Amino acid sequence: MVLRVLSVASEAVPFIKTGGLADVAGALPAAVAPHGVAMSTLLPGYPQVMARLSAGAFRVLHEWPALMSAPAPPIPARLLLAEPAEEGLAGPLLVLDAPALFVRDGGPYVDTAGRDWADNALRFAAFGRAAADIAGGAVTGLAFDVVHAHDWQAGMALAYLRFAPPVSARPGAHVPPGVMTIHNMAFQGHFGGDVFPQLGLPQAAWAMDGVEYHGGVGFLKAGLEAAARITTVSPTYALEIRSPQFGMGLEGLILSRGDAVRGLINGIDTREWNPAADPALAAGFSARNFNRRVLNKRALEAEFGLEHEDGPLFIAISRLTWQKGMDVLAECVDQLVQMGGRLALLGSGDAAIVGQLHAAAARHPGRVAVRIGYDEGLSHRMQAGGDAILVPSRFEPCGLTQLYALAYGCVPVVARTGGLADTVVDANLAALKAKVATGIQFDRVDYSGLAGAIARAIHLYRQADAWRSLQKNGLRADFSWASSGGAYASLYREIAPETA
Ligand code: ADP
Repeated sequence: MVLRVLSVASEAVPFIKTGGLADVAGALPAAVAPHGVAMSTLLPGYPQVMARLSAGAFRVLHEWPALMSAPAPPIPARLLLAEPAEEGLAGPLLVLDAPALFVRDGGPYVDTAGRDWADNALRFAAFGRAAADIAGGAVTGLAFDVVHAHDWQAGMALAYLRFAPPVSARPGAHVPPGVMTIHNMAFQGHFGGDVFPQLGLPQAAWAMDGVEYHGGVGFLKAGLEAAARITTVSPTYALEIRSPQFGMGLEGLILSRGDAVRGLINGIDTREWNPAADPALAAGFSARNFNRRVLNKRALEAEFGLEHEDGPLFIAISRLTWQKGMDVLAECVDQLVQMGGRLALLGSGDAAIVGQLHAAAARHPGRVAVRIGYDEGLSHRMQAGGDAILVPSRFEPCGLTQLYALAYGCVPVVARTGGLADTVVDANLAALKAKVATGIQFDRVDYSGLAGAIARAIHLYRQADAWRSLQKNGLRADFSWASSGGAYASLYREIAPETA
């Protein structure tokens, strides 16, 4: 029996992306399809999404004269079905067309100056309200067995289904159970208590096990309370968020849900990330003609203006933030150079870290080079040409950059946290002997922790055979969506009504 799942996400590749959530939401429909799951995806009608629905390539499925009615004037909205489904998304695309909420300059969550939109609570409450109506049977022709909500922006979908399901025209319509996925616990969608009257929820929802959170409204919290299952994007992060350090206030809730909380690792898109057929590279390579890889190293040195030599070339590709430990990397640059390493870094983010990195590059011309900005093609060339990638994250729900590195023979040097701990096999003696090591893990994200890991990497790099085996083990590791797609499908079946 095919299971019908509505995936509710505020971003999805190839339509709109600000982070890893978009990659997951974009890949899920194809990942679960082989396991008997028909997934539709609901997105907000941002300008970038509307622009891709070329004239006539969609149908209007439903109209809400007043999707949210509390603030005057009421907000009208339409539900569009993209036809045929856009390239890159393996299932129908549903779009919530509500121009008053979603058509504006700036990003999905912030204005052009980088400030959160003042009406984010209303925008994503409306998104959740629409999702609940769709999943709850209020739209003729659409029915779902399970709702899968991603991050705080979709959390209210499950809260509305729980506290205010649509008055369905369809006799026998059931309220489908929900899965709530946490892509990053650091973003919880917390708003003031004054928002509650706008939500159109019954008073019963204003409770500790409802949408209330420390006197305000918590969108992620509301979704977690209402979900039949909670997932996050790696097994280790699923354990870590039971503690205050990683749970960020929601650890008690996570603990109380016991084994309803699961960790399912993200996959990577192996069509985009295949070193044998990557148009961005100077030289394609695979495990069989791995010697060609060095051509990419030479090209990368030239592109970054680094000295040509055989010593280890470290790379980093990252948001330049505290979460990613990029302040610690900046502190370690002198030591890295002193130990004989070079560094090519690509990233954007905090001005203070950018300043530190520029200063380090100025101190070490030919040894350290920094590019500030976002450049997808360059990130591919770096993964193909670098010897090792530094990922000193303080927390990392899953992390994709180390998975791309493994696929490209660039040895990951990672903090032992979240998905980094789950996907990189540390080159300790036993793992080296068993020929399963793929990288280096370290415990403390501080100067001595990272500097020690860099020293280990350089030491291993100088043992050519051991290094080559790390690279090849990484190339052989399978981080496609094949296994996680099946795991999500099993999870949906666990909670789907018996008749589905
Ligand atoms: P997060 O989503 O927390 O930023 P992930 O590692 O899960 O971290 O995913 C981020 C992706 O974006 C990675 O593939 C990383 O290589 C890539 N990336 C980060 N910064 C840049 C940049 N400046 N240019 C190109 N790619 C980048």
